[in-house]
Amino acid sequence: MPLLVMKFGGTSVADLARIENAALKVQKEVERGYDVIVIVSAMSGKTNELVGWVEGTSKLYDAREYDAVVASGENVTAGLMALRLQEMGIPARSWQGWQVPINTTAAHSAARFVSIPRDNLDAKFREGFKVAVVAGFQGISPEGRVTTLGRGGSDTTAVAFAAAFGAERCDIYTDVDGVYTTDPRVSDKARKLNKIAFEEMLELASLGAKVLQTRSVELAMRYKVRLRVLSSFEDTDENSGTLVCDEEEIMESKVVSGVAFSREEAKITLFTIEDRPGVAQAIFGPLAEAGVNVDMIVQNISEKDYDDSHPGAVTDMTFSCPINQVERAKKAMEDARASGLIKYDELIIDTDVAKVSVVGIGMRSHAGVAARMFKALANEGVNIKVISTSEIKISVLIDRKYMELAVQALHDAFELDKA
Ligand code: ADP
Ligand code: ASP
Ligand code: MG
Repeated sequence: MPLLVMKFGGTSVADLARIENAALKVQKEVERGYDVIVIVSAMSGKTNELVGWVEGTSKLYDAREYDAVVASGENVTAGLMALRLQEMGIPARSWQGWQVPINTTAAHSAARFVSIPRDNLDAKFREGFKVAVVAGFQGISPEGRVTTLGRGGSDTTAVAFAAAFGAERCDIYTDVDGVYTTDPRVSDKARKLNKIAFEEMLELASLGAKVLQTRSVELAMRYKVRLRVLSSFEDTDENSGTLVCDEEEIMESKVVSGVAFSREEAKITLFTIEDRPGVAQAIFGPLAEAGVNVDMIVQNISEKDYDDSHPGAVTDMTFSCPINQVERAKKAMEDARASGLIKYDELIIDTDVAKVSVVGIGMRSHAGVAARMFKALANEGVNIKVISTSEIKISVLIDRKYMELAVQALHDAFELDKA
């Protein structure tokens, strides 16, 4: 039997009526002759509530119990979806992660897949079951404990199942009808893309576009999964939504395909650090050990860059990291200073920043993208604090209060509203 994976996110299973609506979409595919693996998220808001309960009980919580609590949201929707399908006369049952089993690493709240053996689900399909409803976002560690994959992880569960079971396609049903040139909640000029290249989607996701979890795009790219994003609230067919696919499948491609943003950024500057070999290592080594995900880095030039007669030259170092890691970063730097590993006069934290990025594979072969981007921001009076680039993206750190303005300005500057 050909097989499809259909994933329904939180808003698509937010109440019983929506679960029924999602089940009707599953029914349609079963009637077309597919066996279906349905991956469900928790009802919208549920995971946040569960996280709140954990944090309200224990400040320095045991990560294994966090996962035990937080994974439960998906168990509820998996059971309800199976019941709804049964009511429609479709042979279906639910599967929690450990029942499949979805084997993961023991990195609680950020676990990665190790293996998804097919035997149990395959046996049920052979018995005549048409649908396996699997709880997204969770798995089981080598120690036999429940794990979760990080927020938004059900997307990754869906792609992993599509890869493991050789699904014809992995359809991600959500509250928007596809991937847009930017978040349609921020710009009403955002335009839906019919196709987007894996690499562009990967950049957009990792730069803040939450429509797909970054890891899900990585997996789809690696295992050549046909990945599609579409609306659970509209009538859909084979051509609906956005297909995430190989670059070669995309006929017309713009220099810039999308604008992404992230509000959850912070900027930290160490003033008057020594300018000598080994200083960067002495700063970023302890940050890495403390689990801080450093993103952008800028080091000022110092007197030494003008002439070499400054043996005691100093400079400044700025880096960005996720806003919820600021305290950890600060402590790592203070400890490194106290132990004599580094010297600095002052450590300044700026948590009122946002990162805005333009992404496009066309950048590989086109010059002038950065100049166009900076001009658009300058025209709006937006000051750039930090810049970083890669082959297919340019990111800037700016004051958070200008984030929406910057997104609009860049969307206009690269004419993303036009096909
Ligand atoms: P789900 O609960 O179905 O997983 P998410 O909230 O995780 O849904 O992801 C869908 C949301 O992603 C949309 O409502 C939209 O606001 C946001 N989003 C951000 N960037 C984009 C983009 N470029 N295209 C489409 N949606 C985007
Ligand atoms: N329910 C989880 C979350 O809210 C996983 C998901 O929906 O993908 O992060
Ligand atoms: Mg999501």
